Amino acid sequence: MLRLDGVEARYGPVQALRGISLEVPEGSVVAVLGANGAGKTTTLRAVSGTVRRSGSIEFAGKPLHGGPEAVARAGIAHVPEGRGTFTELTVVENLRLGAYTRRERNLDSDIDRVSKWFPWIPDRAQQPAGTLSGGEQQMLAVARALMARPRLLMLDEPSLGLAPMIVREIFRIVRELNEREGLTVLVVEQDARIALQTASTAYVLEVGRVAVSGPSDELKENESVRRSYLGY
Ligand code: ATP
Repeated sequence: MLRLDGVEARYGPVQALRGISLEVPEGSVVAVLGANGAGKTTTLRAVSGTVRRSGSIEFAGKPLHGGPEAVARAGIAHVPEGRGTFTELTVVENLRLGAYTRRERNLDSDIDRVSKWFPWIPDRAQQPAGTLSGGEQQMLAVARALMARPRLLMLDEPSLGLAPMIVREIFRIVRELNEREGLTVLVVEQDARIALQTASTAYVLEVGRVAVSGPSDELKENESVRRSYLGY
C-alpha cells in the first residue's frame, strides 16, 4: 500500500534521512524502530508531506505528492509525536476536526463508530481535551485519525510518556483495528518490545538509514537487535 524508495530529507545542514526504502503491505502493521534521532519521525513526516524530501513515495500504486492536506485526502492519517490534540477544544470538537477532509456533515454515526473502540468517549464528549489523562489524549488522537476513515494510519511513538499498562491497551486496540477492520498501520516506536509484538514486519533505522529489517519474529531472535533495542 505504501512504498518508499531512496527517500532523503534534511533540515538545513542536517541530513535526517539518507535513502530510506520500506514497504507497508495492505492490511499489515509495520513498525519503524531505532534510537533517538535515527530518523523515525522524519520518515513519517516525509510521507505526510511536512518535510521536503527527495526519492519516491508511492501510495496505493500512485506517486504520493503534495503537502499534509493532499496526503490526508489520499487516505493517510498521521498521529504525530505529542499527539496534536487541540487541548482547548472539547473531545467531540477534536473528533469532528479529524473528519475535515471529508465532505460528510453528519458525523454522529462516525463518532459512534470510533467510540466503539474507546468506550469512555461518549461520557467525556464535552470535556476539554487538555483535561484528559495522557493515555486518554493518545487514544483521542487515534480516534480523531479514525474519523478521517483512513486507508493507512501512521502513529508516531504512541507509547511516549505513558504507563506500561496504558501502552499495552493502546497497542491492543491498534492490533484489533488491524485484525477486525483490516486497517493498515505504520507505527514508529522506541519501545521495540511492544512494537515487535504488534507488527508483522519491522525496520530498524540508524542515522537515517535502514540498518536491519525483516519479520518481527526474526528480529526478536537477532542478537544485535536484541542487545541494542530490546535490552536482553
Ligand atoms: P526521536 O525518537 O528522538 O523522536 P527520531 O528517530 O524520530 O528520534 P527524527 O526526529 O526524525 O528522529 O530526527 C532525525 C534527525 O533530524 C536528528 O538528527 C534530529 O536532530 C534532526 N531534526 C529533527 N527535526 C529537526 C528540525 N526541526 N530541525 C533540525 N533538525 C531536526
